[in-house]
Amino acid sequence: MELRKDPITRSWVVAGHPERDKVRPDPCPLCPENRIETQTLLALPPEGKWQVRVYPHFRPLYRIEGDPGRSAEGIYDRMAAVGAHEIVVETPDHTRTLAQMSDEEIERVLDAWVRRIADLKRDARFKYVTVFKNQGEQSGEEWPHAHSQITATTFVPRRILYELRSAREWYRDRERCVICDILRQEMRQAKRVVDNAGDYYALCPYASRVPYEIWLLPRTHNHQYEVPLAGEQRRNLAALLGRTLRRLLQVAPGYHLVVHTAPNTQQTKGELSEYWRTIAGDYHWHFEILPIVEQRSKSYSIKEVYFNGTLPEQAAERLRQLDPAK
Ligand SMILES: [Zn+2]
Ligand SMILES: [Zn+2]
Ligand SMILES: [Zn+2]
Repeated sequence: MELRKDPITRSWVVAGHPERDKVRPDPCPLCPENRIETQTLLALPPEGKWQVRVYPHFRPLYRIEGDPGRSAEGIYDRMAAVGAHEIVVETPDHTRTLAQMSDEEIERVLDAWVRRIADLKRDARFKYVTVFKNQGEQSGEEWPHAHSQITATTFVPRRILYELRSAREWYRDRERCVICDILRQEMRQAKRVVDNAGDYYALCPYASRVPYEIWLLPRTHNHQYEVPLAGEQRRNLAALLGRTLRRLLQVAPGYHLVVHTAPNTQQTKGELSEYWRTIAGDYHWHFEILPIVEQRSKSYSIKEVYFNGTLPEQAAERLRQLDPAK
């Protein structure tokens, strides 16, 4: 298994991973009674019966040991698939989903993400830490048992790199954060904002890629999700995420969720320190949630252009009307 770089788009591809084609293990390996014996990276609450447990992935995309060892093959770049790949089991209960959890339980899942990102960023080899969650049969989820996954990579994934570059350019031109600017306008227009709790807002982005795409973000500028928050703030974020997911699941059978936070800026060697010089001012963390749209819906993408049949203004209005307690 290795990483190969497409010289045109500059994106890295994980190449060759035969084990991943194997059928789903049965019984569920995430249920506490069936769990394959492995090291526990984090358990919450730390004492007593755990609700959230994090351990290394059984079939990791990236391996923790070693040096990425970048090398060339003629004009091409490649490196070893060094990194981390972890599973966050969100509940010991096989049938409980994140959307069904109490605010307190969701808060523990969010806290696990915070702690694992912060821990992985201490490793200077890792340039980026991604948290993602696939929920629903059509989402590509690995197991139906509620879980999310964390990867730490020696490169910044393509979409986040685009975002970071645009944010940096916006900041360079205006000395303002693009996401703060977006949120200010959205709050003023109030057309695409769905909900808020304390400092956190949920909105359908102006150029939504799929129907009911929704982002969660703090109003107060902050580039890093993994900064521990005061108790009340974290509870607000958990409450907003729960309400948002319960709304979304009334219009879609599943979703993808991804946390977008700043890259690992502890890599301060030469070029990179200059590159991320304005990161604290120019980037703003957020969650992106992309509902799964059914196969025959009017939303599909052709040649990487998104066609979205539902205007985000209509999506936001519909979502606002749905009962977030359901
Ligand atoms: Zn299970
Ligand atoms: Zn901002
Ligand atoms: Zn983003």
